Amino acid sequence: MHIEFDNAFLRELPGDPESGPRVREVLGAAWSRVEPTPVAAPRLLAASAEAAALLGLDAATISADPDFARVFAGNALLPGMQPWAANYGGHQFGSWAGQLGDGRAISLGEALGPDGGRWELQLKGAGKTPYSRFADGRAVLRSSIREFLCSEAMHHLGIPTTRALSLVGTGEQVVRDMFYDGHPRPEPGAVVCRMAPTFLRFGSWQLPASRGDTALLRGLADYVQRYHFPDLAGRGAEGDAEWFARVCERTAWMVAGWMRVGFVHGVMNTDNMSILGLTIDYGPYGWVEDYDPDWTPNTTDAQGRRYRFGTQPQVAYWNLLQLAQALAPLFDGVAPLEAGLARFGQAWERAYRDLVARKLGLARGSDDDLRLFADLQGLLQDGQVDMTLFFRALGQRDGADAEAGLAPFAGAFYDADAQARVEAPLRDWLARHAARQADDPLDAAQQREKMRLANPCYVLRNWLAQEAIDRAEQGDPGGVTELLEVMRHPYEEQPGRAHYAGARPEWARHRAGCSMLSCSS
Ligand code: AMP
Ligand code: MG
Repeated sequence: MHIEFDNAFLRELPGDPESGPRVREVLGAAWSRVEPTPVAAPRLLAASAEAAALLGLDAATISADPDFARVFAGNALLPGMQPWAANYGGHQFGSWAGQLGDGRAISLGEALGPDGGRWELQLKGAGKTPYSRFADGRAVLRSSIREFLCSEAMHHLGIPTTRALSLVGTGEQVVRDMFYDGHPRPEPGAVVCRMAPTFLRFGSWQLPASRGDTALLRGLADYVQRYHFPDLAGRGAEGDAEWFARVCERTAWMVAGWMRVGFVHGVMNTDNMSILGLTIDYGPYGWVEDYDPDWTPNTTDAQGRRYRFGTQPQVAYWNLLQLAQALAPLFDGVAPLEAGLARFGQAWERAYRDLVARKLGLARGSDDDLRLFADLQGLLQDGQVDMTLFFRALGQRDGADAEAGLAPFAGAFYDADAQARVEAPLRDWLARHAARQADDPLDAAQQREKMRLANPCYVLRNWLAQEAIDRAEQGDPGGVTELLEVMRHPYEEQPGRAHYAGARPEWARHRAGCSMLSCSS
């Protein structure tokens, strides 16, 4: 196994003079050197062939090479790896939290892929770092499976995301109190190797800004522009303004992707917002089933519901405001930052019209179409209708066939009373939609294809992940591999895999890990 490394982040940005995991405040530095803590018995549980290919590795090498599990558990280093933990801060649930940093993630290096890609490889759950505060630096199997699978599922859905290379069991136990209610128990531990061009976050800039460290602020901007926005590097004030505007645009597109497929991130703190507009830090996320814009899967956020499904665009904008404030010392006046924030609004507007057009199978999303979509959202909520099943069936129905009525949607209802309430208005809505489609420049086949590619058949429903977790906790990782296989083609109907395209079963309604998740991971 050979991987080429070029650790520009370490080379170009100031580091902490002290190395090792002693917990400390780290000033004037973007990173600290710290080695992963070896684990008792690394065992490769799953790997993503597509992610491996980005590094020039093939699936056969991975499964045949005993070094692979050791390296990606943190028990051995390849030549060129120089492990570090990154320093950053963030707003958590609306409050400034000061220095946070990688408390359990350790980056191994920046790999150069055969296609010219730069991939920071990062182990999550690799042991203590200077940023671990009171915690153990480890991750449990259940949350590692969820991060591994969802990273790849999002990629295949076409939504910008960090990637996952591997899932390795540690052979060690980790103690967690899943609902912070005084019932800690030992659980199996795991390490995920995730990949992104860079894992820098909004909080990476917020921390030096909060300390008045403009030199580090500048250095981080220079690094990210040079390696990740190369067309903007060295263009001075104009390049800086365009960089911030692009971060705003990418963030808008990312959130529009989430809204299209019903993804709720769950913890949109500014330390969990990628500077590249990638979905990052999969924790207590969830997928909307019975349609509800007020839903959040995160019990830690159940009170304020700050990060509920429907407010994700507003939260993203609030987070960008915090980033703008942090970047202010790099700019001469606020106009360029305001212009960047305005680009969020413009990008969101375009992305949302595109979302509506795609989900409804129309050429463009006009103002009328936005109203049509909003009316549908009201009905789906009132009728407690499964979002994924409804839109998939909508795309397969023949608009001319009014006789079929609601039959194609039969499996999408969870509650008979709620269903009865919306049946008549939903029929009216379907007639409006059919009339609108009949009037559209796209022909019926084009409309169906557009909807097929926007409305997935398979999403990583919490209970599907939980089934794979239950099996893996019994020692059988086969469910993870199967689920990954299904999620590789979310828009294709896969024969024999109806289970994965089904509505939430009754058992999952109140099961921990399905309807309730916490930050404990
Ligand atoms: P998160 O909510 O997962 O984004 O984590 C917020 C902060 O807590 C980050 O600085 C994490 O590195 C840190 N953290 C979370 N879990 C652990 C853990 N088990 N050990 C050390 N640090 C952790
Ligand atoms: Mg985080």
